[in-house]
Amino acid sequence: HSKEIKKAFEDELTLLGIKSEVGLVLTGCFGLCEKGPVLVVYPDETFYSHVTVGDVRTICEEHLLKGRPVQRLMVNDPIAKTKIKQMSQLKFYSKQKRIALRNCGQINPLDINEYIAKDGYMALGKILSEMSPEAVIDEVIKSGLKGRGGGGFPTGMKWQFARSSQSKVKYVICNADEGDPGAFMDRAILEGDPHSVLEAMAICGYAIGSNQGYIYVRAEYPVAVERLYHAIGQAREYGLLGKNIFGTDFEFDIDLRLGAGAFVCGEETALIRSIEGYRGMPTSKPPFPAVKGLWGQPTNVNNVETFANVPVIFLRGADYFRSIGTAKSPGTKVFALGGKINNTGLVEVPMGTTLREVVFDIGGGIPQKRKFKAIQTGGPSGGCITEKDLDTPIDFDNLTALGSMMGSGGMIIMDEDNCMVDVARFYLDFTVDESCGKCTPCREGTKQMLDILNKICDGEGTLEDIDELERLGEMIKKTSLCGLGQTAPNPVLSTIKHFREEYIAHVTDKT
Ligand code: SF4
Repeated sequence: HSKEIKKAFEDELTLLGIKSEVGLVLTGCFGLCEKGPVLVVYPDETFYSHVTVGDVRTICEEHLLKGRPVQRLMVNDPIAKTKIKQMSQLKFYSKQKRIALRNCGQINPLDINEYIAKDGYMALGKILSEMSPEAVIDEVIKSGLKGRGGGGFPTGMKWQFARSSQSKVKYVICNADEGDPGAFMDRAILEGDPHSVLEAMAICGYAIGSNQGYIYVRAEYPVAVERLYHAIGQAREYGLLGKNIFGTDFEFDIDLRLGAGAFVCGEETALIRSIEGYRGMPTSKPPFPAVKGLWGQPTNVNNVETFANVPVIFLRGADYFRSIGTAKSPGTKVFALGGKINNTGLVEVPMGTTLREVVFDIGGGIPQKRKFKAIQTGGPSGGCITEKDLDTPIDFDNLTALGSMMGSGGMIIMDEDNCMVDVARFYLDFTVDESCGKCTPCREGTKQMLDILNKICDGEGTLEDIDELERLGEMIKKTSLCGLGQTAPNPVLSTIKHFREEYIAHVTDKT
């Protein structure tokens, strides 16, 4: 709808003769999907939700011409029983801390000047004029930034490994193959702030000694692809990609490679094979990509959100970054909230925020006052977390200790009406479809687990089947080649652990 609304504004502003006085910008995602389409009027920052083409005339005549904000389109505060005027007053935003999403919804992603006006490319300029590659890596290590794609590996160490591999040719890859059901964090960054990723990749290129980067992005994200091509073109025009960046002898360029929709291509070795033109299948590690990656050369792979954090570390310092979040997991994490929650959307919170705060304070709780049942974090690789653990501060270690994982940031909320056996079956069905078939435990084992789950859901299962699911799940985790197989049983194992009674009810209640 946003494009239609923008067109209606253009027509109305022309009609009123004020088009040249009002800047109209189509931005990226604001995060609050539930209230979209959203419009913010500056300088007073009035936040309008659920805007339609039919509202355009009123906004122009009342707000823009007469200075009277339209109450009807403001968000309701059910507690204070008043209308909320500005974004910052919404609880949804006030508990968030935006680093990776800092420019999303704030700038026009198609205009490099707007990124530059927000200190864009300043970190790259500072690094090239003042810092050695080693100092850059030290700063990233000092910041404590960990990979946001799911693994949580320290980013600075990864860069150091790639730097210490001796080769004239090295590569930087941005993994934008976001494939978890319900996850759209990377998409929002690429659509809303593509230059932050380009700048970070150039910084990484300088640090590890690479002149070429690739963004491996899902072809199912056409807007992100279009905006990335546009941003790369603008950065080249401004001399921020290509030869002699900032007048130095540093050269770095970026190209796109489109993924064809295989979930397993989010695994870095499969992704590399796919860029090389082969079928996207993981290979065993070692050798790690930092030693032998794309076309056999040292390669550093980070995901979109990880890169989006990097310029801030250099603009505000590693100490600033470390001051946010927890000692072991500094910084923030972006989550996509979906399922049975009032404020579906995209949120970014400091590590250490509790799950309860995310679900109830920011997410607005469960619709129709139903009872919360569980959250699935980490998508098909993760597990479910129940009410008793809602006060756990979010970080990599804590979620793993609960038998789930951070993953890339999908959070699906379930209420009392959700059948957890069915939830487990949904995720396993997904991984069975997405298994590349290279190794037997994952290819055959997950299929066997799915057959058993189908049997249980059809009312034909037995108590022994539940034990068999656990036995198979543990075996598949231990023996699969890559992360997909090693984590595929997690949704089943964790729902059996927390909701065994639901499995038992399926196999004992045959009525
Ligand atoms: Fe392929 Fe699954 Fe084996 Fe990974 S674990 S290599 S996805 S078959």
